[in-house]
Amino acid sequence: MIRAKRIEGKNKVEKKKHPFVKKNDKVIVLVGKEKGKIGTVLKVDGEKGRAIVEKINMVKRHARPGGKRAQGGIIEKEAPIHISNLMLVCNKCAEPSRTGKRILEDGSKARFCKKCGELLDT
Ligand SMILES: [Zn+2]
Repeated sequence: MIRAKRIEGKNKVEKKKHPFVKKNDKVIVLVGKEKGKIGTVLKVDGEKGRAIVEKINMVKRHARPGGKRAQGGIIEKEAPIHISNLMLVCNKCAEPSRTGKRILEDGSKARFCKKCGELLDT
């Protein structure tokens, strides 16, 4: 299959990716050893499509002794997880749900839960 080459130019309209998750969202992990776990989104990297979720995908890192830390050793830190592995959990119905977009009266866009209809951006 031949793929059309993308032309990079000044007039190219940047297609912005809109990750469906945002900071402070509650999400559930869909795959992997932490499947079913729910955590709060701490950070979203829209370009890479990854998010850091509190207490999810913890990795051990070695910290060097000295410097800012008095002691060296192993610290645990969240590693980014791809957002396709996550699903938003609705605040109202508390269920993992797909979101839709709705345009509000003032013209701003808000996400809503497709299950219960609750707006998620307020
Ligand atoms: Zn809901």
